[in-house]
Amino acid sequence: MAGVSRLQYTTEVRLIRVMCSGRVDLEFVLRAFSNGMDGVFIGGCRLNECNYITHGNYHALNMVLLCRKIMEHIGLNPDRLRIEFMSSAEGILFAEVMSEFGSKVKELGPLGKGEGIDQNELKSKLAEITKLVPYIKVVKNEKLASRLVNPEQYDTLFTKDEIDKLFSEVISYYIDPEKCQACMTCAKRCPVEAIVGGKNLIHVIDQEKCIKCGTCFEVCPPKFRAVTEITGAPVPPPIPEEKRTIVRKTKKEKGETDKE
Ligand code: SF4
Ligand code: SF4
Repeated sequence: MAGVSRLQYTTEVRLIRVMCSGRVDLEFVLRAFSNGMDGVFIGGCRLNECNYITHGNYHALNMVLLCRKIMEHIGLNPDRLRIEFMSSAEGILFAEVMSEFGSKVKELGPLGKGEGIDQNELKSKLAEITKLVPYIKVVKNEKLASRLVNPEQYDTLFTKDEIDKLFSEVISYYIDPEKCQACMTCAKRCPVEAIVGGKNLIHVIDQEKCIKCGTCFEVCPPKFRAVTEITGAPVPPPIPEEKRTIVRKTKKEKGETDKE
């Protein structure tokens, strides 16, 4: 409506249309910051006016509340991220909010520099957190599905302590070489191909690639239970390649007969 009505607003924005504000993933916001955007604005339909049962705008709101706390955790000013709800007919409101947000971001200065964070340090922090997005979404699943009716609750949905704990107690996954039976189930199910293995080879997790989704832990057959969760401790080094082959005993070597 703002465009059709020829309303003037800040020219420093790049609009990206999505079907629903709920489509804006936490990863998209972090990626925008990683790509050098100084601010991110999300415009959604008015709360409780969604035509569908999904109410994606609540998902967007919760994601923003979480992301703002994550930004604080890494030293970024959370005001660089803003969400507002309005109808498509409210062009004047949109133009006003955009201009106001544009001025705010200008006042904050370039991302990181305004906060006095070293650019390389910021880049690596953003990359580290972006990698953890699937893990964060699983751990904060319940809160991300909240429907807060009172804006006064917004600031307390996620607390500083909770976010500090989220990153200090990140779970890592490790395959116990003594227990792995090379059934290959985990490698087939890992969404990012972080598990190195093969037929008759003890599987190992490439910690650099692992996004900590926990799938391998869930799918490793109970009779093997080879995948373990490690919290707050270093992950043991992977078993050397030359020691990964599993030599299985034949029935004869086990002393079994066909009859048995
Ligand atoms: S937790 Fe397991 S399944 Fe998930 S990414 Fe890491 S290795 Fe792959
Ligand atoms: S699912 Fe378990 S037993 Fe099978 S390869 Fe993976 S870690 Fe090994």
